[in-house]
Amino acid sequence: MEFCDECGAMMKLEGDVWQCAAGHEQPRNHDSEAEMTTTQGQTSDGPVDMSDVEDEDIGPTTRARCPEPDCESDRARYEMKQIRAADESETRFFTCVECGKKWREDDH
Ligand SMILES: [Zn+2]
Ligand SMILES: [Zn+2]
Repeated sequence: MEFCDECGAMMKLEGDVWQCAAGHEQPRNHDSEAEMTTTQGQTSDGPVDMSDVEDEDIGPTTRARCPEPDCESDRARYEMKQIRAADESETRFFTCVECGKKWREDDH
């Protein structure tokens, strides 16, 4: 919404100029509009936020709290491995998707 600098009336967009009821005109090239145009251009070409997209290439992931104190990640790749005797239950091995830290499920 624009208001006339001359008389304070509300202005309508008439082509490339704002025009009030009394016939005063102002150019429409205001900073706010220029910024909006620039932002829209960047959005269409800019990097896409992939944080919510499951990455198919890194294999199965699961919710697992990374034990690394500096790492906030709660997602890790995992694989099942049978260690030692065959009658032992499988152990899950995690690899943090953020920092690459590896740990075993029963290390906690
Ligand atoms: Zn006016
Ligand atoms: Zn981590």
